[in-house]
Amino acid sequence: MRSMSSAAVVVHTPGYFCDIGPHVFPVEKFARVRADLVNGREIEAGQLVEPAPAARENLLLAHTPEYLDDLDALRWTHRTHMSELPLKAEIVRAYRLAAEGTTLAARGALEHGCGINLGGGFHHASADRAEGFCYLNDLAVAVRVLQREGRIRRAAVVDLDVHQGNGTALIFHGDQTVFTLSIHQEMNYPMPKPPSTLDVGLADGTGDEEYLRQLDPALDAVWAFAPEIVLYQAGADPYVEDQLGGLALTLAGLEARDRRVLEGCARRVIPAVVTLGGGYARRFEDTVSIHARTCRIALAAAEAGARRPA
Ligand SMILES: [Zn+2]
Repeated sequence: MRSMSSAAVVVHTPGYFCDIGPHVFPVEKFARVRADLVNGREIEAGQLVEPAPAARENLLLAHTPEYLDDLDALRWTHRTHMSELPLKAEIVRAYRLAAEGTTLAARGALEHGCGINLGGGFHHASADRAEGFCYLNDLAVAVRVLQREGRIRRAAVVDLDVHQGNGTALIFHGDQTVFTLSIHQEMNYPMPKPPSTLDVGLADGTGDEEYLRQLDPALDAVWAFAPEIVLYQAGADPYVEDQLGGLALTLAGLEARDRRVLEGCARRVIPAVVTLGGGYARRFEDTVSIHARTCRIALAAAEAGARRPA
């Protein structure tokens, strides 16, 4: 008999935490989500995979050498100054770990049906620029590494963070092998919004029912693209209690959102990769429980998929 999570690879390292000073971004959430899943016995501590920092040659598949040089030298330039974060070695290292983490989760998803990075989703970083708490775009690095390894050709990034996935959109602009979907609050950062393959900009205060009504046809477009892997940026910030978001999803609405994506992948036998993305709820515990529930849904969907008769 299979254990609960045998169909998934779960990636995390304590190095995802870095000291960014007093900040709205709760970097302690990564370890708290891990603890939540281990304490709830959804995953075993021994099952967790720890990434090393991503190699420069992998980062170069999504980022320019000039920008990576700035990060290595901790240089404050026009390429790094929009991060809204300090620029310190420990912080850059955390983003390199996250980039490798999503890559490992993606390799694991191809082998086991599901991969979860308890971090990542840094969708505002573009090829040559940091932005919006994001130094390195782990989603883009992972897709490009798998393509270079010849493991996949077509990939989709399903970005349901409340903020548009501008960095991912820019990196994959004009690339016919990658479908980028972003469903976000239209009147929110970033401005302007470079085009994804499909953008769905929602009105302020959009609630569960309307959100899910817009999600379904957008996901149909993803399925029609026939991706060989889906990378899910499962931002927790469409939540009604988020400090940086202006949508109005409830916890039940977010659960329904996650099910549409993750059960949709499992039903179609498309490997799914979860990354956490944003989450700035007034109560920190809400952000942790939203992310942990996304992971639970991914684990259950993968397990159900693995039990399906061949
Ligand atoms: Zn966000």
